[in-house]
Amino acid sequence: MHKYCLECDWKASTDDGDSEQEVSRKAIEHFVETGHTVDSIRLPPPCVNKN
Ligand SMILES: [Zn+2]
Repeated sequence: MHKYCLECDWKASTDDGDSEQEVSRKAIEHFVETGHTVDSIRLPPPCVNKN
């Protein structure tokens, strides 16, 4: 899971070693602290393109 801010360079990702819950919590914190809009990208599962 990746989350990023539409209004500044803030982002959080499970690639950084955080759990999805932690990433979500950080996104909410960023919103509460700044009022910025945070959007998320959910990557598709790795096997989705198999034909
Ligand atoms: Zn921001």
